[in-house]
Amino acid sequence: MVPINNSIIRKIYRKIKEYNKIVIARHVGPDPDAIASEIALRDSIKLTFPNKECVAIGLGVSKFKYYGILDKIEPDKFKNSLLIVLDVPNLQRVDGIDNLKYKEILKIDHHPAEDIKGNVDWTDETSCSTCQMVADLILHSPLKLDTIIAGNLYLGIVSDSDRFLLPYTTSKTFKIVEELINKSKINFPTLYNYLYDRSLNEVRFQGYLASNMEVTENGLGYLIIPQEKLKEYNVDLATPSNLINNFNFIREVLVWTFISEDPKNKIYKVSIRSHGPIINTIASKYNGGGHKYASGAKITNKEDINNFIKDLDNACEEYKRATISNLK
Ligand code: AMP
Repeated sequence: MVPINNSIIRKIYRKIKEYNKIVIARHVGPDPDAIASEIALRDSIKLTFPNKECVAIGLGVSKFKYYGILDKIEPDKFKNSLLIVLDVPNLQRVDGIDNLKYKEILKIDHHPAEDIKGNVDWTDETSCSTCQMVADLILHSPLKLDTIIAGNLYLGIVSDSDRFLLPYTTSKTFKIVEELINKSKINFPTLYNYLYDRSLNEVRFQGYLASNMEVTENGLGYLIIPQEKLKEYNVDLATPSNLINNFNFIREVLVWTFISEDPKNKIYKVSIRSHGPIINTIASKYNGGGHKYASGAKITNKEDINNFIKDLDNACEEYKRATISNLK
């Protein structure tokens, strides 16, 4: 067997080898990184160990069906299994594990650590995506890779790094991508057709967001999106989050947020992005969290919307003041 040089990768590979029943899960409201990482890891484990029962669970999203099909399980059949948690640091946001009596947790994630402490735990905030970490694991262990697995991992990396634009993109990202390409035959144009396919409604909705975003003097861009607007443009609640990265690099905007009314769950679903100030500490005040510059939250009462906007605006003001005084 090829020796595994990295100690965490060795521990993860051994743990996977040890179990015959493995359940892979990720966060609720999945994005391409979450879905692609769980399906790629499942498919690689099955390819390497055809006798293991390995499933990737969570609610499916029709928009992401090109990554592969998720598994429906009877939790009793996976008693004492290994639970692999990907792309999520808090147990409450893991999708689909309510009745699962797993034996151990193995965590692989690029979010700041929260309450999940894996028996084997690989948390790397410097990674641009969970797919980058799963690709690292597969490329540098005896786990097998094929073109479909490589394509999924590539799309997760491209999507979560916003096409290598975001600051979490490092030389390691490019090294992993180079290895993925060298070891498989990824067909880029076809993959991009999947990732960037969108409806005219969505493009028109992006126009609505751009035309209606308020921008404060301190550089906070914000928009409260009523449920009727989502209906009018025939888009879903995930759409503002899917579009929020397109509002990067606007000269007048330092931090930007979309606050979408979600009457079904009696909350406001919030996405936040930043070009400077750290925002996950503010998100965590409003039932949220995430990365330093890309976070989400759930506002449960309307009165808190103003407080939330004020908190973000103050963060912009402080950041601008600190930046100016550093220049003096
Ligand atoms: P989004 O704006 O939905 O793309 O989310 C940006 C980042 O914040 C992702 O890493 C999410 O996993 C994280 N996130 C979103 N909503 C929440 C939440 N309610 N609690 C904790 N983290 C969240």
